[in-house]
Amino acid sequence: MLYPREFGNDALFPKSTDFAVVYKDELTGKGVIAYRAFKRGEVIAKMAGHVVSDIRQHTLQIDSEKHLFDPYFSGYFLHSCAPNISLNMEVMTVTALEDIPANSYLYMDYAETEDFLFKQFPCSCGAENCRGWVMGRKDVRAIEPFRRVASA
Ligand SMILES: [Zn+2]
Repeated sequence: MLYPREFGNDALFPKSTDFAVVYKDELTGKGVIAYRAFKRGEVIAKMAGHVVSDIRQHTLQIDSEKHLFDPYFSGYFLHSCAPNISLNMEVMTVTALEDIPANSYLYMDYAETEDFLFKQFPCSCGAENCRGWVMGRKDVRAIEPFRRVASA
């Protein structure tokens, strides 16, 4: 079980035999890997965490006032513009959007849940439909630091 006991014992909570938060590489940092395969449409896990009122690193938006701080599992989902999982923040479930082979990283689309990101960043997901810049669905694109330097 990736979650501490205080969160209870839901049969759908991620098991440490199925998932792990692992260091991926310098560019992306940590991500969540699935050790076993999942079928498209399958609910692969249920999320838990601390409900907080502010946007932090590793929070996922529940609604306009509540955010889930989950430093054990879902807070480490990586972003892709072509995600392989979808999150339902009302019932706290993670669903496979496609067949996920064993030993795959789990990728969500941060704009699926977040109005505003703690920090925007350039996307390197490599998807055909890559938006190039990761931000929340209500975010206005921030000026990139290199542009500021270039125009100074
Ligand atoms: Zn992308």
